[in-house]
Amino acid sequence: MTLPPVKPGKIVTMGEILVDIMAVEHGRGFREALNLRGPFPGGAPAIFVSQVARLGHPAGIIAGIGDDDFGWLTIERMKRDGVDVSAVRVDDDYVTATAFVRYHEDGERDFLFNLARSAAGRVELNAPARALLAECGHFHIMGSSLFSFHLIDEVKKAVEIVKANGATVSFDPNIRKEMMDIAEMRAGIELMLQYCDIFLPSGPELLVPTAAHSEEEAIAALFPLGISMIVVKRAARGASYYDRTRALDLPGYKVAEIDPTGAGDCFGATFITCLRQGMEPEACVRAANAAGALAVSRQGGMEGISSLAEMEALIARAALSENELTFQTKAI
Ligand code: ATP
Ligand code: MG
Repeated sequence: MTLPPVKPGKIVTMGEILVDIMAVEHGRGFREALNLRGPFPGGAPAIFVSQVARLGHPAGIIAGIGDDDFGWLTIERMKRDGVDVSAVRVDDDYVTATAFVRYHEDGERDFLFNLARSAAGRVELNAPARALLAECGHFHIMGSSLFSFHLIDEVKKAVEIVKANGATVSFDPNIRKEMMDIAEMRAGIELMLQYCDIFLPSGPELLVPTAAHSEEEAIAALFPLGISMIVVKRAARGASYYDRTRALDLPGYKVAEIDPTGAGDCFGATFITCLRQGMEPEACVRAANAAGALAVSRQGGMEGISSLAEMEALIARAALSENELTFQTKAI
């Protein structure tokens, strides 16, 4: 048995709700006046859980917002998607987290975060959070949420509760270079891998937790830790799936990239949701690739989430144009 058993219940995540405020112009950093666009509701766990709910799976988040427009904008948006926000604490003393984002010409990003000293930095396992965890069948951890010892401790407590109840756990390291300087974060990533059933790194993140020099080495080193599945996200090139018995490479879908924010979060949410709904891993990766492609074709993290019908339409369109190509090649 290579697949973790499915425990019924909500998909729950825990971490930052924030708004993204994005530079309209490409370039480096924020040391000059420039045009900005936003606020866009976001935060990796928030985007993830909204995508899960949009696919019709019960989902909830443990998080914190300030009693301000940025916070309420995000909560209202998540509610519309069907997310259980009963464990989102409204903080009277701290403001909603923010991330200012600027893209370089090559697609790299600079972030300027207000996280640790925002409402997101004060997330804790209070009574509503514990009530949500009691309904959890699968728990998802975002590496971006492990930005302080406090958060690492709270997430660790949550994971231990759900694991003891038989829930499965997925982990997306979601490393932001601005955060790797935080010593806590590397320790947190190593810790979370011990609890992880499904590991969802993107590209080079696969090599981070082990001392491996190649993907093959990393994969060989990760399964003995207790991980059942690894899905490596490869941006426009799609994704690769590994379990103990097989490896699959599935190409990405061709779209015009407008904004890559949230692609990985929509991908992970779709893969986990489809898997829990009983789809085969290959079909789950296809749907997840479609979710990621749809996400990059719209601006704003949470704006990028899509329905199963939209994903199926993209997959069908791609299959159709592939058939046409095969037909044309044969005709020649
Ligand atoms: P994030 O910025 O959300 O952290 P990530 O680095 O975790 O993203 P990516 O590999 O960039 O993850 O993207 C996730 C998935 O989205 C990819 O595996 C792919 O399926 C899809 N995707 C990303 N970029 C593109 C693109 N330009 N064209 C088509 N699909 C894409
Ligand atoms: Mg990511």
